[in-house]
Amino acid sequence: MPPFASKEKLDLLSITKPEMERFIHLQGWKPYRAEQILRWIYQRNVTQINDMTDLSIHDRTHLGFIATIKRPTITTVLQSQDGTAKFLIQLHDGATVETVLIPERDRRTVCISTQIGCSLDCRFCLTAKLGLKRNLNAGEIIGQFLSVQDYLEKTYKTPPRLTNVVMMGMGEPLANIEPVRAAIQNMIHGRCGLGLSPRRITISTAGIPNKFRDIVELGVNLAVSLNASTNEQRRTIMPAANKICPLPELLDVCRSLPLPHRRRLTFEYVLLRGVNDSPQDAVRLARSIRGIPCMVNLIPFNEIPRSSYAKPDEATVLAFQNILIRQNIDTYLRKSKGPDVFGACGQLGASTRELLCTMPK
Ligand code: SF4
Repeated sequence: MPPFASKEKLDLLSITKPEMERFIHLQGWKPYRAEQILRWIYQRNVTQINDMTDLSIHDRTHLGFIATIKRPTITTVLQSQDGTAKFLIQLHDGATVETVLIPERDRRTVCISTQIGCSLDCRFCLTAKLGLKRNLNAGEIIGQFLSVQDYLEKTYKTPPRLTNVVMMGMGEPLANIEPVRAAIQNMIHGRCGLGLSPRRITISTAGIPNKFRDIVELGVNLAVSLNASTNEQRRTIMPAANKICPLPELLDVCRSLPLPHRRRLTFEYVLLRGVNDSPQDAVRLARSIRGIPCMVNLIPFNEIPRSSYAKPDEATVLAFQNILIRQNIDTYLRKSKGPDVFGACGQLGASTRELLCTMPK
């Protein structure tokens, strides 16, 4: 619940439409004001209350006394050779999150962080090495989208629009579900939010199954990071996540999820050389997900510093993919995006210094 009664100014980016309606009611204003203000923020992209010119000067002054719009600031842009861009974004307490823009033919996907660091300890992931510093609030989550869109508008003569959102950046989204839910509600609201289709938003989880239904109810896509074909393997690769829910139970929950008509889950599988990439692993994986409406994204491991894991060779990856395809499982090979700026999957969390040292000159 937003701190309407607190001495701190209310961050208008952090509240949903029903919360805005309550706030407006408490000011004694007409109900239509709620949508009016939200439209300024999400559709007319103002960053200052004073720019909401269809509010009277008196109302703007009053609003400015009790509320603010806390937009985060991009401090560094690291441009990959493949077109991917990684943004270091500063929040109001000075903390930094990482956000990645992935342009592909007809879509521009923004990969958003939901926590600073992460409480889970997936062994293939650089963010895990940070530990959890803190959760992001809803404004800091949707603010990453707005900041990257602003960057595109300032950089290009004909600025492209962001088309897709994946919450696969730093952090486990389902461990911070309320701000994630509020940010999604503001992303998909047609009249006074960003107006994104829920089908264009994907939430990726290491596996906190008691929150899966919350995500399905929002109508957005759910991606579950499996990365193992046996429980023992998963316990080694993702110890904390597998402690929350062991692999067999996780698959049971996936099997019984009430997915809407013609929707399916995505299973992500990071391929680690000699660990989970054998033909036997592929056969076991195919067997364990049979009957679940799903597709599989294969992600050859992206190298990170001080890791004992390595990327499998191409032939091994293709052989793994072919076994799944022969079992009638839609399987896609995710191309690594932005590895030269540590912007690829599992690579977020390198310090700026570490990044700048590894950047191609
Ligand atoms: S893969 Fe995701 S859940 Fe696992 S440690 Fe990294 S950020 Fe956290």
